[in-house]
Amino acid sequence: MTNKINSLRGMPDFYPEDIISWTPVENKLEEIFNSYSINEIRTPIMEYTDLYKRSVGDTSDIVNKEIYSFNDRNDQSLSLRPEGTAGVIRSIIEKKLDQQQSKFWYMGPMFRYERPQKGRYRQFHQAGIELLGFEEGKADFELISMICSIINGLKIKNTTLKINHLGDKQSKQDFAKELVSFLSSYKDQMDEKDLERLNTNPLRILDTKDHNIQEILKSGPSLKDFIPNSANELLENIQSTFGDLCNIEIDNNLVRGLDYYTGLVFEATSSDLGAQDAFLGGGRYDILSEMLGGKDMPAIGLAIGLERIISIATISPSNKKKVAFITSTSNIAPLAFKIANQLRSANSEISLDMDLTESSIKAKLRRANKTNASHVFILGDEEINNNLIIVKYLREDVEQTNVSLKELIELYKEI
Ligand code: AMP
Repeated sequence: MTNKINSLRGMPDFYPEDIISWTPVENKLEEIFNSYSINEIRTPIMEYTDLYKRSVGDTSDIVNKEIYSFNDRNDQSLSLRPEGTAGVIRSIIEKKLDQQQSKFWYMGPMFRYERPQKGRYRQFHQAGIELLGFEEGKADFELISMICSIINGLKIKNTTLKINHLGDKQSKQDFAKELVSFLSSYKDQMDEKDLERLNTNPLRILDTKDHNIQEILKSGPSLKDFIPNSANELLENIQSTFGDLCNIEIDNNLVRGLDYYTGLVFEATSSDLGAQDAFLGGGRYDILSEMLGGKDMPAIGLAIGLERIISIATISPSNKKKVAFITSTSNIAPLAFKIANQLRSANSEISLDMDLTESSIKAKLRRANKTNASHVFILGDEEINNNLIIVKYLREDVEQTNVSLKELIELYKEI
């Protein structure tokens, strides 16, 4: 026997019973994006590796350890996208939209070579928003407003939205320098991971899981002292404006893994998730467009982890109306397909399940009953001869009837 081929580790399939909880969340998100007048953009899932090296940064964990890169037949290094922002910015620079303002959303798969566990996959899905060409201020408020709408619209419980401000490129650098000099006398107490961060991306040390280093950091320099007053005011203003809509905390230790963030950064968590408790993150990235060869373009965006948000969203799937169509004729009965086609055009809201098996009428009826169909339409040789169709009610206490095609279409529109 030939060996069967399995899916890749961390890249799950989605079966209908999984999709049933995805669709209502995807639809609700689209509805919210629309209500904020954001347009959809779709970019390829593969780009030149350099795009991610230059944007996400080659010292970041994502590019350093997690990116899926390979050489194509032309020996060019390509990568599966680990996140959505770099591709969107590459795309709008190419179309010269970096000189104007635009608002985009996207949804799709992302790829990171991480150690798979609950809530962490190698192919996962994100929905994201990018507000492009807007200075710090109004757009930051609009994005936080949208996060509260998402949390409330999807009825997500026990959430915390942490916000922080990283200052501009200069203040980020000044702080990093001070932090490195402060931590240099504690190197012997740091683990390998933090030591590496100290050399490559010192701000990430604020994210450390090591309690001893967390304690040491308390007496170290604070990012708060490096950012302008206006930044602290922005954080407080956001908190007081939206605090009654969602639970907002200012957290001066919140840094994010990607190099391109400046200004406001945020992350939403829920205690209903396990160890991987962040379901949304993002921030301002005023320097990214220039890093990618575009015009100086202020921008802010966010990404939502769909697997995680779907696992905690408490909106219910919509119940699609369902009917079954079975034939009890001795041959294929092409007429049945013609009638079913007309019915589907008359009311596309209903899901009509045409029985394609060769089983007995009894077995067909049993199957129709199991599918939660409200009605079953039956076409046999006798009905074909008399131009009639049997309508059997499966969920109501109503006698079965014989109707003409015209009557059936009328009935079908009202189901
Ligand atoms: P990031 O781009 O790392 O800030 O990710 C944004 C969001 O995507 C996170 O808050 C998670 O919800 C989700 N996410 C990131 N990496 C993964 C992964 N490997 N598997 C599932 N979800 C992820």
